[in-house]
Amino acid sequence: MQLPMGRPKRHHVVIIGSGFGGLFAAKALRRAPVAVTVLAQTTHHLFQPLLYQVATGILSEGEIAPATREILSRQRNARVIQALVEDIDVEQKVVHARCQDELTEVPYDSLIVAAGAGQSYFGNDQFATFAPGMKSLDNALELRARIFGAFERAELTADNQVEVDRLLTFVVVGAGPTGVEMAGQIRELSTHTLRREFRHIDPSQARVLLLDGADQLLQAFGDQLGKSAQRALEKMGVEIRLGTIVTDVTDEGVAVKDKDGQEDFIRCACKVWAAGVQASPLGKTLASQTGAELDRSGRVKVRPDLSLPDHPEILVVGDMAYVEGVPGVAQGAIQEARYAAARIQERLRAAEEPAMVALEGERTAVGAGDPGYTFATPAPPEDPEPFKYFDKGSMATVSRFNAVVSVGPLRFTGFVAWLMWLGLHLLYIAGFKQRVSTLVRWFITFVSNGRSERASTRQQLAGRLALEQFGPGVSGPLLRGEHPEPEEQEPAAQA
Ligand SMILES: Cc1cc2nc3c(=O)[nH]c(=O)nc-3n(C[C@H](O)[C@H](O)[C@H](O)COP(=O)(O)OP(=O)(O)OC[C@H]3O[C@@H](n4cnc5c(N)ncnc54)[C@H](O)[C@@H]3O)c2cc1C
Repeated sequence: MQLPMGRPKRHHVVIIGSGFGGLFAAKALRRAPVAVTVLAQTTHHLFQPLLYQVATGILSEGEIAPATREILSRQRNARVIQALVEDIDVEQKVVHARCQDELTEVPYDSLIVAAGAGQSYFGNDQFATFAPGMKSLDNALELRARIFGAFERAELTADNQVEVDRLLTFVVVGAGPTGVEMAGQIRELSTHTLRREFRHIDPSQARVLLLDGADQLLQAFGDQLGKSAQRALEKMGVEIRLGTIVTDVTDEGVAVKDKDGQEDFIRCACKVWAAGVQASPLGKTLASQTGAELDRSGRVKVRPDLSLPDHPEILVVGDMAYVEGVPGVAQGAIQEARYAAARIQERLRAAEEPAMVALEGERTAVGAGDPGYTFATPAPPEDPEPFKYFDKGSMATVSRFNAVVSVGPLRFTGFVAWLMWLGLHLLYIAGFKQRVSTLVRWFITFVSNGRSERASTRQQLAGRLALEQFGPGVSGPLLRGEHPEPEEQEPAAQA
């Protein structure tokens, strides 16, 4: 299948992913003499830091996931294609993608790969069945259905206290920012939002456990903020178990082992997996063709200018890239994306100078400003300035009006930190409409404890597991209406 626009005449920059890395790279190229194609498997730009608020009924999915197409609608040199990239041929400079179940080839002159990372279960992928991660809108909506669903089921089981206790026990695995935020929110939900809504159970009796193999919460924030967050959560009633690893996850609960070897089984219905990340498998594809190395999480060890060995035209950014000293956070992805866009423009400018490389076949090297050319790969400038990360700090909310913030040597906790968190998140949510409606929802939640986004559907609850039972690739045929033929029934015997 050919893409509707075919091959652009300008230097073609293909960007894989519409997260922080992909979107900010596309935006940074808005004035460049290039054609930009953003290929992403979802139609939205997801603001992952607020996924936990979708899962706990504060925000709707639209507020944190505006359409990428809408965000880039005024950027004339950019187009957006919903496609799942399955392979990259670095020699032919072609991306193989699946659009609406049709395979397509997208040729590129420069490639920015920003496909992010998924959840890692540290080799125990079977845990995912009962403990969804927190990486996508699907995850957040499934968790919303599981969290609110647990209270509903408990109300119906009120005469069986053992089962009520299991249903009202929530286990969050991983005490990074996501785990801390989830644990705090589930506890607030049970003690405030749902307080008066049930007749046979007391939601405030819900237990929320936060588990982590490390010795402190929020490791990346340092000891002081980790302890502050721990105190705040414990005050809210969250049970924290540090130095504890999960050894098994079943429908019935979670098996754990502490550092003294003591084993325990926590009976619980709803589990949230907020530990560990695994970079996109596209990293492996790139590594096998370019000789780039991968780290333990599958991140590509890029060169100091974010490119791959012998492939200056391929840049890897965001959660998929390993760059020493750069954490897997939005700022890392944004800064790398802007740098990658600047590198491409630098190389284009270099190509306008006489020292361009001779190109193979019909590809002709001509000036970057010429609209009628097929662009050639320019010679890379000698020793480009390496990427430098500017650490703007880290922040996480613990509860309503309480957050922890670390900026350089400064540490903030409590209400001031929470205001900083609020302002910064509002600034980075894409789209004016989204900002306004998020502000309204926050006002409702923070002032009245109400939550406007509590609806959940059976699809959200069971869709992922149902699709897994069908096997990979089934959603395409189902969407096209190609249902498996029903097995022929034996005709009933005539009386
Ligand atoms: C729950 C959660 C909370 C977080 N909280 C914070 C926080 O408070 N502060 C902070 O700074 N950071 C936070 N982060 C981290 C931050 O969100 C990431 O570092 C950032 O999103 C990385 O950007 P990215 O572009 O590399 O990847 P992503 O934002 O994950 O984007 C990846 C993109 O690639 C697309 N994609 C993936 N595979 C393919 C494929 N094969 N074909 C086509 N498209 C593909 C996806 O659809 C997506 O559009 C959080 C992350 C999570 C999950």
